[in-house]
Parts: sequence; structure tokens; C-alpha cells
Amino acid sequence: ANHLAHHLATHLPESRDKVFATRPGLSDVSYGALFDGAERLAARLIEAGLAPGDRVAVQVEKSIEAVQLYVGTVLAGGVFLPLNTAYTAAEVEYFLSDATPSVVVCDPARAAEIAPLSGQARLFTLDGAGQGSLTADLPDAPGFAPVPRGADDLAAILYTSGTTGRSKGAMLSHDNLSSNSQTLRDTWRFTPDDVLIHALPIFHTHGLFVATNVALLAGASTVFLPKFDAGAILDAMPRATSLMGVPTFYTRLLDDPRLNRETVSNMRLFISGSAPLLVDTHEKWEERTGHHILERYGMTETNMNTSNPYDGERRAGTVGFPLPGVELRIADDGREVATGEIGMIEVRGPNVFKGYWQMPEKTAEELRPDGWFITGDLGMRDEDGYVSIVGRGKDLIISGGFNVYPKEIESLIDDIPGVLESAVIGVPHPDFGEAVVAVIVKQRESLSLGDITAATGSNLAKFKQPKHYEFVAELPRNTMGKVQKKALRETYAELFT
Ligand code: ATP
Ligand code: MG
Repeated sequence: ANHLAHHLATHLPESRDKVFATRPGLSDVSYGALFDGAERLAARLIEAGLAPGDRVAVQVEKSIEAVQLYVGTVLAGGVFLPLNTAYTAAEVEYFLSDATPSVVVCDPARAAEIAPLSGQARLFTLDGAGQGSLTADLPDAPGFAPVPRGADDLAAILYTSGTTGRSKGAMLSHDNLSSNSQTLRDTWRFTPDDVLIHALPIFHTHGLFVATNVALLAGASTVFLPKFDAGAILDAMPRATSLMGVPTFYTRLLDDPRLNRETVSNMRLFISGSAPLLVDTHEKWEERTGHHILERYGMTETNMNTSNPYDGERRAGTVGFPLPGVELRIADDGREVATGEIGMIEVRGPNVFKGYWQMPEKTAEELRPDGWFITGDLGMRDEDGYVSIVGRGKDLIISGGFNVYPKEIESLIDDIPGVLESAVIGVPHPDFGEAVVAVIVKQRESLSLGDITAATGSNLAKFKQPKHYEFVAELPRNTMGKVQKKALRETYAELFT
């Protein structure tokens, strides 16, 4: 059997006509058509020389054919390796030389640029409309038999977002992916009756292994949008039941006056992740729509680790409880700390990856021999068991020998009337080692520095108080809505030197 393919196709063939995707302005795609296309692409990959375990590197616009290429790669026994469409040729070169794929698929507009970087790999093209050499004259593949693959064989290598340093290739097995998607489907109660608004990119774990896999494993329908578009999402809501998004989806939807209780009357679930959802956003969403956004926490290496409850209190500012089957500890050097104390989040379970591709030392540093993965995120657990993320270990500031947790200062600043949001970073300082710097986006133009220092001065110990404040028009973010603190640290590196 082919472990993941078996799970992806369990609801077939009874429901061949069931709609997998509706697309504004384009025809619907049934599950039957989705899997037929995936099988034909699998046949094409095998005809191109793909052997079990070979990587298929893919940098293409979001399309149904791109989803079929993912499923087809799995059916063909290959390892799917999607790349962010924003990566430049120089970046793609690193990924291709690191991953040595045997097949590369890119946009036709970039073929001339990518061809010289593809080495021995067979190069195909695919554009946002599903056209290109990959799909031209596809042979029928009746009765295509999935290439056998076991639960521990690799199904994908997904590169991390590169927020803290160079992206690392996370090796994900068939069981890593299928076990987590089944858990999420059941935890979030996805069924064939669901219609999920899918507006996330499919080169990242959120859009591919959370949104797409959950929809497939539930036999649900999607409203398949090429990218985030508040208007298109609001148009889709009356026919949809659920939305998965990054926090910026929610803040932008809140900016649209069309968002109200009536627009969401058919919706049952709003899920957020990939970056912290501000308490303020959670509350404003509840006021406007009556829904509590369900926040969850995960990462490329582990898929999803925690989720707020489906039933029961979804606590703003927290990421909820460990998912069934996932063990989580807040630890200091592997030893659990007391409730309410900050420590490193470690996780263990069937969701945890097999290690970093071609990086045995890095794998040994972060994945303990007994299976615990050191996530790099600092967190704490409250009396009721809710986990909250305090920030990344790499963003921890050490000023004058004291630990300063950026989140504490950001939360305080964000609560000052007139502040939209903030990011707190540490930059080199000759006396203190690092100095705390606050980068602030105003909501009200008249907000003054004095308004900020009045609040920080009376609420924070001296060593936590920012030594410098910057007002900016917006915070630097990547496509997943993650604030790029590394870039901010670089921008302000010389403030005190
Ligand atoms: P790199 O590992 O290359 O530095 P990255 O960690 O940003 O990049 P991803 O795997 O895409 O790459 O992101 C996972 C990280 O996103 C988590 O480790 C965590 O820091 C953050 N994250 C995800 N969900 C949440 C959430 N709900 N709240 C806060 N942070 C979150
Ligand atoms: Mg990471």
C-alpha cells in the first residue's frame, strides 16, 4: 500500500461526483476529476524517470493542477518539495542543490532562469491556469496503482520559513502527514458537509498539510481562491462553513464593513495560526461576528501541535491544549518547569518529523534521541492547561544579564490607546550587551512618545524598558504574516554602536 495515498483516497470512489473545489469564474472540480488528474500526473512523473524516494521540486502558482501534482507525487512514491513562489533564482538554486530533485516544475515565465539550476533533473512547466509542459497531452492512466510506500517513508520535504535563519528542509513521512490531518479533521469536526474557504498558499504547511489535507481527508469541499482577497472571501462566506487563515486575514477582513453577523451566518469555524493572533483581533472578531476564532500552533517540522478546543473556551492569547496523541512539555533543558513558568516548548508524537534533510548536526541539536523535538519557541502553561507562546528563543533579549521576553512588552504597548501593533527586539549595546528597542505602528496619528513612555515607565522594571522607540508605517512581514524580527534587528543594529 501507499500509506498517505491510501488515507487521501479513503472516501473514494463512492463520491466521485462530490465537489472538491469551486472556483470563482472557473468550473467546479469533482473529487473524481481531482484524482484522475493526480493519477495522470503520477504516470507522467514515472515516465519521466521518477523512482521511489526521489524529490519533485515545485515552484508554481496556486492551482488545482498544483494540488494534483502534490497528490500525484505521493501516488508515484515521490517526495513532494514545494517552494515559495517569492523565492528568487539565487534562493531556488540553494534549494535545488540541497535537495537534488529528479524532477523540477516551475512557471513557464521562469523556465529560462530555472533550467540552468536544475542540473540532471527533468524540468517541466506549469502556470497558474494549469497550462504548461507538465499537463500538455497527458496520457490517461486508468487503474494507476499507487507506488507502495510505508508509513515511515518520506512523502515531503518542506523547507521552514527562514524566519530565524537559513531555511531547513524538514523530512516528513507519510504517517507524519496522515496522522496529523486525521487528528485535525476529527478535532475540528470536518465532514463531507463542510465547505472550507482555501485562500492560503500551498507551498507552506498551513495551506498544504493543514487546509488541503484536512479537506481531502474529510471529503469536504473547498472554495479554492488563488490568494488572499478579502472581497472574494466575503463573497464566499454565505456558501461556506469554515475558514483557515493567518492573523492578517482576520485583521484585513475586520477592515471590511461587509463583515457582520449576517455574512457569517452559515459559517461554523474560523481558525488562525502561523503567527500570534492579537487578543484585540480575537475580541473584535467576536464583537462583529459572534464567533471566537480558534487559534492553533504548529510548525513545518511537526505539523500542528496544539489547538484551542472546539467545544469549550477558546482562550484569546493562547494556543490551547496539545492535540490528541501529541505530548508537550514546557522545559528547561528537557526538565518540565512549574505551571506558569516560561520554558522551551518541546513536543513528541507521530507528527514529529524525521529530521532535517542533509543536516545531521542540526537534527541532533533539536531532536532528542527519545523523540522529543525542541521547537525553539518559548511558552508557558496556565493553571487550566492552556499553552501560550511567549516568543521564539532566538528573539529572547538579554539586557544587562536579565532575560527580557518581547511578548510581555509588546502586549503592554499594544494595549496603549492609539497603538495598532508593535515588535520588540534586542540590538547590540556597548554597556548592556543588548538593548530593548520597540518598533511601533500607530493607529492614531496624534499618539506621542510620551503616551508610550508613561505606560512603559510605570509598568515595567527599568531593565525591561525600551531604550529606544521607533514609529513605522508597518511591520515587515512575510507571506505567512510572520513579523520578520531578524530584518528589524538588522535595520536597527547600529542604534547604539
Ligand atoms: P525558521 O524555522 O526557518 O526560522 P519559521 O519557524 O517561521 O522559520 P515555520 O515552520 O513556517 O517557519 O513557522 C513555525 C513557527 O511559527 C513556530 O515555531 C512559531 O514560532 C510560529 N507560530 C505558528 N503558529 C503560531 C501561533 N498560533 N502563535 C504564535 N506563533 C506561532
Ligand atoms: Mg522554525
